[in-house]
Amino acid sequence: GVLAARQRSAELEELIRKDPGRFRVLTGDRPTGRLHLGHYFGTLHNRVRLQELGVETFLIIADYQVLTDRDVAERLDEYVEDLVLDYLAAGIDPERTTIFAHSAVPALNQLLLPFLSLVSVAELGRNPTVKDEIAQSRQSAVSGLMFTYPAHQAADILFCKANLVPVGQDQLPHLELTRTIARRFNDRYGNGAAPVFPEPDALLSAAPLLLGTDGAKMSKSRGNAVSLAATADETARLIRGAKTDPERHITYDPAARPEVSSLVLLAALCLGRDPRDVAADIGDKGAAALKATVTEAVNEHLAPIRDRRARYAQDLGYVRRILRDGNEIANEVAQATLDDVRAAMKTLY
Ligand code: ATP
Ligand code: MG
Repeated sequence: GVLAARQRSAELEELIRKDPGRFRVLTGDRPTGRLHLGHYFGTLHNRVRLQELGVETFLIIADYQVLTDRDVAERLDEYVEDLVLDYLAAGIDPERTTIFAHSAVPALNQLLLPFLSLVSVAELGRNPTVKDEIAQSRQSAVSGLMFTYPAHQAADILFCKANLVPVGQDQLPHLELTRTIARRFNDRYGNGAAPVFPEPDALLSAAPLLLGTDGAKMSKSRGNAVSLAATADETARLIRGAKTDPERHITYDPAARPEVSSLVLLAALCLGRDPRDVAADIGDKGAAALKATVTEAVNEHLAPIRDRRARYAQDLGYVRRILRDGNEIANEVAQATLDDVRAAMKTLY
């Protein structure tokens, strides 16, 4: 589970430092709204860091997957632009990182057919993240897409033969399924010497599950998030309303005090400090002082990101050019992989 993934992530960090050229990253988001602090400290920060280390990176905008938990994908064009703006603001460089939307890459989507044949209905039904999302879903009935999207996500990851996926904790079951699909495909169709697909690893950050203002996972669609693009005043208001607990003395104890600890961690990440020290400094000053510290730290940390975002938002033509170029690269990569798949399956005559 999570502990093993944390340990593996520490090992991976070592390997990445030694030889960044060994790794290829695929990661991304659903265009369901603006990115928030959970994304930023959960994965976006890691993506930028990997890019800076020289790891080849693909950033997917999972637009088809918006339909997993709702009937209609609303304001899709606007939300896609929002994602690209958030990426650029956080430091993603489109010269080094390929940004694309999976609906624009037919060959990627075609991988879903053989992949679905490699997993059982029972396996799909056991996925704890999907179970959770079904419970939260706005739909009255569970769609086939909701049930099968982790296999689609395997296609997202494997289309470029990525071996490293920086994600939050909720994604671990999906990564496990991707590894299973890669392994089974190689077993069934590969010639042992040259596997078609790598078995990708998840890379967890120091904040794999940041909580929102209601104490549940911070999520775009729960209304419990502080978005990167929020103003300093909005940020202050949202954090003032965040759930804490009745105990006055502030400590960092994620297992026993999840809400307070998530706030402490947020301040610590922004300040580049140890969360235990941040908690000790606040001590008996209580939740109001904690929230003031968090607000100031977040606003200070995000100020340059927010400035950059506002500047890029003036040039949506640039944003669309980035997507057009990224889609083009992704299509070439996907076609090469699909050719490999069809050759292995002996459907490329
Ligand atoms: P939605 O509510 O529409 O599902 P979301 O906020 O859950 O949106 P996703 O697009 O599903 O965001 O997730 C994108 C990536 O961000 C995933 O890797 C996910 O693990 C990570 N992530 C999302 N929320 C958090 C969080 N609160 N803490 C850490 N990582 C997160
Ligand atoms: Mg989600």
